[in-house]
Amino acid sequence: MVADPRVVVEDGRIAAIGSRSECGIPPGARVLDYAGCMLAPAFLDIHIHGCAGRDVMEADEAGMVAISRFLGARGTGGFLATTVTAPMDATLRALERLAARMRSERAWPGAALCGIHLEGPFLSHAKRGVHPAGDLLEPSVAVFDRMMEAADGCVRLMTLAPELPGAAELARHATRRGVRVSMGHSNATALEAQRLMEAGAASATHTFNAMRALDHREPGIAGVALTEDALYAELICDGIHLDPRMVRLWWKMKGRERGILVTDAMAATGMPDGEYRLGEMTVQLAEGRATANGVLAGSVLTLDRALANLVAFTGASVENALPLVTRNPAAMLDFADANSHTHGRDLRVGQRADVVALDGEGRLRASLMAGVEQQQ
Ligand SMILES: [Zn+2]
Repeated sequence: MVADPRVVVEDGRIAAIGSRSECGIPPGARVLDYAGCMLAPAFLDIHIHGCAGRDVMEADEAGMVAISRFLGARGTGGFLATTVTAPMDATLRALERLAARMRSERAWPGAALCGIHLEGPFLSHAKRGVHPAGDLLEPSVAVFDRMMEAADGCVRLMTLAPELPGAAELARHATRRGVRVSMGHSNATALEAQRLMEAGAASATHTFNAMRALDHREPGIAGVALTEDALYAELICDGIHLDPRMVRLWWKMKGRERGILVTDAMAATGMPDGEYRLGEMTVQLAEGRATANGVLAGSVLTLDRALANLVAFTGASVENALPLVTRNPAAMLDFADANSHTHGRDLRVGQRADVVALDGEGRLRASLMAGVEQQQ
C-alpha cells in the first residue's frame, strides 16, 4: 500500500508507481487526479453469470465484449464466466464458445475472461435453488472430463455438493487437473463437508445461500467453512441474500485472509426491471431482486457495491476489505503462481494498467482499464 499514490501509465501498462513525492509526472502526460482516494488493482469476480443484458452461456462475441465493458466500468478487471445447470449438450456448446473466446488473441476492452466456473450439474436436489432439477447429475469423472475437453482446459473452479455419491473421487480428480472445488448447492452435514475438504475442496460457494442452515447441532458446510482456517468462503454481499449480521459473522471468521466477495450477477445486472436469461431459464428482475418462480436467481450486484456494502455492514477498513476482491480469489485459484494471470495481484510495473480509485468508504470513484478511464 502506497500512501498518497501516483501511477504512471504508458501504452496501457504501468510504467511507474510510487508516492507523489517520489514519482514525477512525465512531460506531456495527461493527469487524472482522484484526491483522497486509494488506488488499487481492478477486482477479480469468480462467480458471475452475466450482466448488461447478456448471459455468459448464450453470449456471442459481441455479448462477451458487452459483458467485459460493463464489468470494466464497475472496476472488475477479471472474471470467471459461471455456468448454471443446463442440458449437457447446451453446457458443452457454451463451454466450447467460452474457451474459443478465451483463447482468441483479441484484447478485452474491460474485464478479461480468465476462466470458467462450473456451477452444476453436480448439485444436490435438496438445495438446487433455481438450477433445473431434470439436468442435475451425480458426480462423474467421465462427464467432468467431457466438460473439461469442451472447455479446452479453461475450467478453474467447480461447485460440488459434498453429500452426493462419488463427490470425493471427483474432487480429487478435478483438483489434480487444476480445477478448484467449492462446496455448495448442498444439504451436506459438517462431516460430509469435512470429507470433501480432505478430498481437496478449497472453498465454499455463496456461503449460507443454497446450503443447510447453520444449526447448533448440525452446522453443515457453513459451520465447516467458517471454522476451518484453510477454507476460503464466497459471500454475496448485496443486502438481499443475507442479513448484514450474517455478513459480520462471516467477516469475523474468514476476514482479510480467506473471505471472497462474489456477485453471482446475472444478465439483468445494470439493466431495468424486466425478463432476462440465466442459462436456459427466464428470470424476472423487480425492485432489485432477480427471481425465477419466486426463488432468488443470482443477483444484480456489482463487485464495487459488494465491497462498499461489506465496509458499511462490518466497519472493516477499505484496506482490509480489498483482498476479498483481489488477492483472495486469485490465491484460491492459484493465479498467484501462474505467470499468465496478473488479476488480483498488487499493482506492479509492467502489468496492464487496470486500476481502481476507491474513496474512504470503499466506493468506486474511477475505473481505468489499460489506463483508459471508463464511463460509469
Ligand atoms: Zn451462481
